[in-house]
Amino acid sequence: MALQHRAPDHSAPSDPPQNGTTAQLLALGFDKAPTAAVIIDAGHLILHVNAGFSHLFGWHPEEARGHTLDGLLSGFPRDPQRNDNDIRDMLASSQPTQAEKLLYDRHGQTLWCKLSITPATGDNGERIVIGAITDITHGKIHEVLRSRVLQAMVEEKDIHETMKLLCLEIQRIAPSISATVMHVDDKEQLCLLASPDFPQECARELDAISIDSSPGSCATAASLGKPVLIADIEHDPCMGNIRDRLLPLGYKACWSSPIKARDSHLLGVLTFYYRQCQGPSKLHEQLAAVSLDLCALALEREEHCTHIHRLAYYDDLTGLPNRSMLRTQAEHALAQANRNGEQLAVLFVDLDRFKHVNDSLGHPAGDTLLRIVTRRLHETVRGADIISRLSGDEFVIMISKCNRERATELAKRLLTVLAAPCQIDEHTLSPAASIGISMFPDNGRDTETLLNHADMAMYQAKNQGRARFSFFSSEMNRIARDRIVLEAALRDALDNQQLELHYQPQINIENLQLHGVEALVRWHHPYFGKIEPLRFIPLAEESGLISRLSLWALRQACHQLAQWRRNGLNVPAVSVNLSPNDFHNLDLPRQLDAILRANALAPSDLVVEITESVVMDGTPSTLQTINDIHALGVRLAIDDFGTGYSNLGYLRRLPVSELKLDQSFVQELESDHATRALTNAVMHIGDSMELTVIAEGVEQPTQRNLLKAQGYQIVQGFLYSPALPAAQLENWIVENLSFTQWGENSLFR
Ligand code: C2E
Ligand code: CA
Ligand code: CA
Repeated sequence: MALQHRAPDHSAPSDPPQNGTTAQLLALGFDKAPTAAVIIDAGHLILHVNAGFSHLFGWHPEEARGHTLDGLLSGFPRDPQRNDNDIRDMLASSQPTQAEKLLYDRHGQTLWCKLSITPATGDNGERIVIGAITDITHGKIHEVLRSRVLQAMVEEKDIHETMKLLCLEIQRIAPSISATVMHVDDKEQLCLLASPDFPQECARELDAISIDSSPGSCATAASLGKPVLIADIEHDPCMGNIRDRLLPLGYKACWSSPIKARDSHLLGVLTFYYRQCQGPSKLHEQLAAVSLDLCALALEREEHCTHIHRLAYYDDLTGLPNRSMLRTQAEHALAQANRNGEQLAVLFVDLDRFKHVNDSLGHPAGDTLLRIVTRRLHETVRGADIISRLSGDEFVIMISKCNRERATELAKRLLTVLAAPCQIDEHTLSPAASIGISMFPDNGRDTETLLNHADMAMYQAKNQGRARFSFFSSEMNRIARDRIVLEAALRDALDNQQLELHYQPQINIENLQLHGVEALVRWHHPYFGKIEPLRFIPLAEESGLISRLSLWALRQACHQLAQWRRNGLNVPAVSVNLSPNDFHNLDLPRQLDAILRANALAPSDLVVEITESVVMDGTPSTLQTINDIHALGVRLAIDDFGTGYSNLGYLRRLPVSELKLDQSFVQELESDHATRALTNAVMHIGDSMELTVIAEGVEQPTQRNLLKAQGYQIVQGFLYSPALPAAQLENWIVENLSFTQWGENSLFR
């Protein structure tokens, strides 16, 4: 290279060295090259810089000449920790070397540069060094910052970790910055996600600040929605008391930029703190631009995840943890109670008659009620580990370090608080609840068992008359187990035709003729023996098996009646008991019709016995079914009449044919004057409405006589016969009701 070595001389002209044509051309090439280039002498002093260098760093050749490279480009005392010995080492090396360095331009702006140093020999044989410098700031920001942060996101790192990584990368690229990232939480406050340079106690004091009423650059940038520069923390009135936290840490300026989502709602704030009174450099602006994009991406994703998490683990209506979340939280609480040898209470809270609120006032009113209850639960059990909504009107509360006494107190308080009247639209409601309680570890050691047992105890509380609480007992467990076993057995019995119908005769005591027979179900289990209908019928109703049982009974009874008739036995009619649930089945009338036809029976051959509760149920489907059955010509009997305490207006509205006086009246006929008055009244009601009245449970001739005196014609009871298997009933009829024996049999006298 024909470059002249000139001693550092600041007064010398700045013309490029000229020495012959080749040298001139080369010098020209050197000078015009877009890359920054520098020639340094053996003493490490700059001989010459090209136009690219001047452009990049702002130093004219004559200004640069005679300085050391590190003195010129890293001479700003921004970062006391900086050590530029390695630039000198590179210059001293006999081999070409390369490095990435953070350099400063003439105005103190930082640049990431790639430095390539090549040793060479000058014209006069002296050692020179040629340096080429490229600005890699852009690449550095993009490639390092972006790829690292995106990588963290792909690896699904925690948002705190990702944001800390971002801050650290920003600080590595621009060491004069201390970066922090805050996000907007669900209370609309700014909360710190990352502040790696801040001591913990200071970070705590800067955390959770309200956007609209707090001083400082972060809150201001958040509320204005645009970047805010505080170039002098000490004197800027906007800083308020935050100044007292920042000045002791050595921060003199700060620059906050809002982080915005794609739909431009505020996600958080990115802040650069400086130890000088200054504003952002070009590098800082570039860093901020890239970082804000990355922050937005990460925070928006975090928002989505939180939303999905809420949907998956929280109940939309009340905001309470749902069943899945309850399980997770319960595991924690139980593990802790186990470790510390503590007791824990599980309260199962079920609202009383919630369905009624929903049905009568509508679902929005029901929703409002659930929200009110949720609020009351929160207010009453502040110390609860968990308040969760399981489904519908079922809530679960778990309380750590809680013994039976505390659980009792709490349950009592809950019942009182929940029962307070509340206003929903124009209605005043007094929500009541039933509460079941199970205790850890006495009633179970795992979530599932404890929940189950609290549920059972809740049922017990409901059965005892609602608005109560009840502790779980092992007796309940036995009953529940029995129920489960019995329900399975009943299902089997229905599948395998193990049920039987017995028939009890209904006698006309005026003419001693058979009025009809009532079909009553019998179950003899091969292992458990005889099981009473009063035990398994309610179970069938609760478990949904009743509709199968009822259809079976209807088919069986009609089939039997047809069979008797074929045998020449004149049984006038058969009565079959149906349950309230059967009347929600709008298809029942069609099924009845089909059964009658299949057995070639007239509709009047069949009586359907229903209780007053069916009539009082009042739902449109029930009324529809009753009317359709009547329209078929099938008769309706009101069973257990007189026990329902209901108003009797329905008798006028509904197509009823028979009333069956409840057995309890017959039992007290002789001993109680008031009962006799009542049975007399029932007879009059029947008479005046032209209904047949049947007295049930007649065991004594005296009872029969009293009833007969009051005008009763039809009776049913052990005095005549219990319910009998079909074949035995046949014999009984033949023996007791045959023409030859009429009047002669003592039974009928
Ligand atoms: P219910 O319909 O009131 O039936 C009358 C009950 O009184 C029958 O009890 C019958 O055996 C009994 N009984 C008859 N005469 C006398 C008497 O003189 N003295 C006394 N102490 N009892 C008498 P059972 O068969 O145990 O049935 C009990 C209840 O179970 C029935 O009361 C009915 O509600 C229900 N049930 C029976 N079979 C069926 C059925 O097939 N379907 C449905 N849904 N319920 C049924
Ligand atoms: Ca009956
Ligand atoms: Ca009855």
